[in-house]
Amino acid sequence: MECLVLFDIDGTLVRGGPAKTVFTDALIEVYGTTGPVETHSFGGKTDGQIARELMELAGLPKEDIDRGLPALFQHYLDGLEAGLASTPMDLLTGAGELVAILEDHSDVALGLVTGNHRRGAQLKLNSVSLDAPFPIGGFGCDHEHRNHLPGIAVERADRHWGVSFDPRDVVVIGDTPADVECGQWFGAHTVAVCTGHFDADALVAAGADVVLADFSDPTEVAERLFSLVDS
Ligand SMILES: [Mg+2]
Repeated sequence: MECLVLFDIDGTLVRGGPAKTVFTDALIEVYGTTGPVETHSFGGKTDGQIARELMELAGLPKEDIDRGLPALFQHYLDGLEAGLASTPMDLLTGAGELVAILEDHSDVALGLVTGNHRRGAQLKLNSVSLDAPFPIGGFGCDHEHRNHLPGIAVERADRHWGVSFDPRDVVVIGDTPADVECGQWFGAHTVAVCTGHFDADALVAAGADVVLADFSDPTEVAERLFSLVDS
C-alpha cells in the first residue's frame, strides 16, 4: 500500500436520502425541540456537533444535551435504517466508478472520513451497494470535531494493512471547507468536489490542493489523485 484515500460521504459519494427528516424526528422524540434545523448548516459537521449546536441554539443546558445524545443516536440510526429501505441515497455521478478504479489499484487503500456515526455511514453506503470498499474510517462517533477524524482513520488503516502511512501518503476528499481543513490539520493532501453545497470559489479559498466540479470523468480524477501523492 502506497497511498490511502479517505472519502467523505454526503455530498461527495452520495446525496439525498431520509437522514435529515429522520434526524429531525429523533430530536423531537428525545429533546422535544428541533432548534433551527431548517436554516442551520450541516455541511462538513459531525452528527454529534450538529445535535449539540442545534440544542444549544434551542437554549438547552449542556447537561441535558449530553444526557440525550445516546438516545438521540439510537432513535436516529434505527430510523435511518428503516427510512433508507424505502428512500435509498442517490449515488453521485462517477462516484461508484471512481471507487472501483481505486479499489482495483494494488497500491491504494480506501477509507472514510465522515461526520456520520459508523453505523449511519455503513447504512447510507449500503443503500447504494458501496460499503464494501471501505474497511476503515474516522467517524462522527469517534470525535465531535472533524479535524481529529483523519488521524483516527489513519491509525486504523495502519493497523488494518500493517503499514505506516505518512500524512503525505494520504488524500482526504470531501465537499466542504471543513473537509479541506481536517485534511490540512492532519497534513494530508486535500481534494474538494463541488457536488455538495459549496462552489469552487469557496473550496479554492479553503485551500484545497485540487478542486473538481464532479467525478464525471473518474479516470481523470484517479490520475489527479495519484499525481498528488507522487508529488
Ligand atoms: Mg460532505
